[in-house]
Amino acid sequence: TDGVATADKAVFDAITRELTRERDQIELIASENIVSRAVLEAQGSVFTNKYAEGYPGKRYYQGCAPSDEVEQLAIDRARKLFDCAYANVQPHSGAQANGAVMMALVQPGETILGMSLAAGGHLTHGAPPAQSGKWFNAVQYGVRESDHLVDFDEVERLALEHKPKLIIAGGSAYPRTLDFPRFRAIADKVGAYFLVDMAHFAGLVAAGLHPSPLPHAHVVTTTTHKTLRGPRGGMVLSNDEAIGKKINSAVFPGLQGGPLMHVIAAKAVAFGEALDPSFKVYAQAVIANAKTLAGRLKERGCDVVAGGTDTHLALIDLRPKGLTGKDADEALERSHITCNKNGVPFDPLPPTKTSGIRVGSPAGTTRGFGQAEFTAIADMIADVLDGLAANGHDGNGAVEADVRARVKALCDRFPIYPGF
Ligand code: PLP
Repeated sequence: TDGVATADKAVFDAITRELTRERDQIELIASENIVSRAVLEAQGSVFTNKYAEGYPGKRYYQGCAPSDEVEQLAIDRARKLFDCAYANVQPHSGAQANGAVMMALVQPGETILGMSLAAGGHLTHGAPPAQSGKWFNAVQYGVRESDHLVDFDEVERLALEHKPKLIIAGGSAYPRTLDFPRFRAIADKVGAYFLVDMAHFAGLVAAGLHPSPLPHAHVVTTTTHKTLRGPRGGMVLSNDEAIGKKINSAVFPGLQGGPLMHVIAAKAVAFGEALDPSFKVYAQAVIANAKTLAGRLKERGCDVVAGGTDTHLALIDLRPKGLTGKDADEALERSHITCNKNGVPFDPLPPTKTSGIRVGSPAGTTRGFGQAEFTAIADMIADVLDGLAANGHDGNGAVEADVRARVKALCDRFPIYPGF
């Protein structure tokens, strides 16, 4: 009968510290967001108790009527949101969603073609240490050095040379929109399936502010917790029912056991929120704020990869300031601004150091920051970076203390989770 506050003080204290951190720090990690109270409650609900292996109407356990109801809600809302024929809402994560597509469409040892990690791709697209890189013959394309955009001549050359079974578009640190018809034309030329992993920009697609991959891709994967602002999880979408059938078998029983019904309930809530017209207003602000953040950082002497952003994220090249991503993200965290170090295209430094940071607007926009606030945030970042450049690895304590006070004042004006 006890809640966690009395039942487990150690865990409760960690949760409290996380709440305080989220309230008092400016969150710029591009893959994070701040979910609604309704999403949190659904994820913390009694659905966590339920085993519901199978799919709505075809379960392996009894007592699944409420599970059927909530999973069907999630499926129907996802299909409406992305205007597609098929949705599987069971993948536990984005990595599981990509794994399911590979299990459904590619055999171990066959060739896949995806964007390299160094160019902004994701581990699950064929990076050497990942299952996708180990179990498949993974060929990787990059971006052009001149403009940091996907080099379609290279994609086509590699496709013709290696004849992949699957071509993957999408990434974790690519700030521009991707030319889906161009990818599909190359896939058709070599008889490959075309997968778009829209994990990062799914919320922008849902809002109609980013080209949808669904008319072009055979299959689309996403996470549900980034711009889409739902619980941590994954999803697979398609307009091809025959592919959908294969994906269903690959998710369960291929890759996973029982679905996380509490997460699926929270996905249904988040998709309902994204169907509301207010979500479009949010997504418009996300893009405007990211452009403002990147633009002001450029004015303050940083390089911006690909010259700017069309989406919710920007990749900041710190080489003009003579800084590494590692020193920068540590100094920013000391200043209560959270982001991550990130390799830039053709980065001379290893991934443990990097020459850049990745910044994003989804979480800050959720708490209500607009362009004035994102301009102020860019100035705080630039002040910390300049303090670091002037003082070396340990930064400038006085500047960082000043920025901490400015962060606190800003966060206090835009509180989150009131009453928690
Ligand atoms: N795909 C892309 C493009 C991502 O950016 C990510 C997460 O960073 C994933 C897949 C994996 O998602 P998850 O962390 O939920 O496994």
